[in-house]
Amino acid sequence: MSKIIVIGSINLDIVAMVNHLPAPGETVGDGKIIEAFGGKGANQAVAAAKTGGDVGFVGCVGSDSNGQRMIDNFKAVGINTDNIAVVPDEVSGTALIFVDKDAENCIVVAPGANGMVTSDVIDGVTNYIEEAELIIMQLEIPYNTVKHVCSIAKQKGIKVLLNTAPGRKIDNEVLSSIEYLVLNETEMEIITGELLTYENIENLCEKLVSLGSKNIIVTLGKRGCYIYNSHIQQFVPGYAVDAVDTTAAGDTFCGAFATAMLTPGTEFADAVKFANAAGALAVTKMGAQPSIPYLKEVKAFVGKL
Ligand code: ADP
Repeated sequence: MSKIIVIGSINLDIVAMVNHLPAPGETVGDGKIIEAFGGKGANQAVAAAKTGGDVGFVGCVGSDSNGQRMIDNFKAVGINTDNIAVVPDEVSGTALIFVDKDAENCIVVAPGANGMVTSDVIDGVTNYIEEAELIIMQLEIPYNTVKHVCSIAKQKGIKVLLNTAPGRKIDNEVLSSIEYLVLNETEMEIITGELLTYENIENLCEKLVSLGSKNIIVTLGKRGCYIYNSHIQQFVPGYAVDAVDTTAAGDTFCGAFATAMLTPGTEFADAVKFANAAGALAVTKMGAQPSIPYLKEVKAFVGKL
């Protein structure tokens, strides 16, 4: 049994650093390869585990060697991997990323096994997920699976944190089953169909709460975030840091928030402050998972302020 269960995607990010991005038909010969584990689901699970959470993962990897490496990577940070399926004859999720000297990029994502996280997979692990205190999902697995999990969670009274990334329209049925809806500015605009300004942020959040989501967290990059529920509506400022790479800031925020929120005696606003600190630390280092801080690093950072 795990308190936090992440249901989502796992990728291997293969990054080629190049002087310039190749044009169609061009071969660029100066690439330097960096490999790192990524995928929004995996990043959030790692963030929750590194900040001290009791975490399990539900998802799919391919029957290739990368799949086993992904599982080993989770085990190294204490994530329960018993409910990760290895899909025969399928490749593990992979992102091919080119980054040039000006930090411009082009990315191809091959979802591979992430596309096999179907409702049938969920039905095979219902006993496990029904024991969770909090289920975390994002939108890199089939949307119908997300809907299916939300309906189980609603029936069983399990809290769901949904991070609506990558952005898409969300059914009211899903919104009505969410305890914590975490979205960035772009995702807020996609979901509500309205331009986000500081003046209307409260109204947009109110709209989402009227559709049934209990707590809304709009992440605002270096400015921190805005939180909204029936008792509290406020901006929670971010921490000033020297940002070098914002990859996985949102994922770190979600995982760290989940761990903090499940820590007995922690108020909503305090969990959000902790998540802002973890997110700020994540942008001070390169890469997705290597940049995610451990609990003691977040505590030391907040203690120094
Ligand atoms: P996403 O990565 O999903 O677009 P954001 O850019 O809003 O999400 O970042 C998520 C969180 O990470 C923010 O709410 C904030 O706490 C932290 N964060 C992101 N960028 C910075 C930054 N430049 N400086 C400090 N904190 C940051």
